[in-house]
Amino acid sequence: MKIINVGRNYAAHAKELGNDVPSEPLIFVKPQTSFAKAETPITIPSWTTDLHHEVELVVEISDTLTCAHPEKVRNAIQCVTLGLDLTARDLQRTLKSAGHPWERAKAFDGAARVGPMRPIDPSFWDEDHVIELLLNGSSKQHGHLSGMMWQPAELISAVSQWMTLEPGDLVFTGTPPGVGRLEVGDELVARLDEQVVFATSVVSPN
Ligand code: ZN
Repeated sequence: MKIINVGRNYAAHAKELGNDVPSEPLIFVKPQTSFAKAETPITIPSWTTDLHHEVELVVEISDTLTCAHPEKVRNAIQCVTLGLDLTARDLQRTLKSAGHPWERAKAFDGAARVGPMRPIDPSFWDEDHVIELLLNGSSKQHGHLSGMMWQPAELISAVSQWMTLEPGDLVFTGTPPGVGRLEVGDELVARLDEQVVFATSVVSPN
């Protein structure tokens, strides 16, 4: 299983970090060892002082996709959920400014947190949906799928031009604005269309 991520799929999030809005999807891959259930308590790695939350819609691929048309992609998504693309922003900044890959900042153990899967049918994509992260009871990240630059099926179709997606692969589809630093004691709740998908908290490593 591999975990595909897209950077800057919400123009408003690209701008909040001072990044250019890309003209084609910015893709990176996390290893299977970065996977964790979203409800698992978060510990902040000792080597970062700026661990950020990024709430994202996550889709599970249920078919083999190579150079797939978006319509085929829609039919190959049977489940979605929300997840957290945890990012060591301080390390990512250092790597970016050196022109290096981001993996050390985003591919560490537990960096890809995935909520419980929910079955959908293809008509899910005919409507807009809202993803939201509450931090300590207040709305911190909020975005409509319609605010994405590439809709999930188009995004996955584009990814499948470069690499084959296989059943069980997970795709994080990008974070809306409002990302920020996590602190020990923080309580996080992720909601899809105002329904709670998962809740977790940040705990001290000891
Ligand atoms: Zn992300």
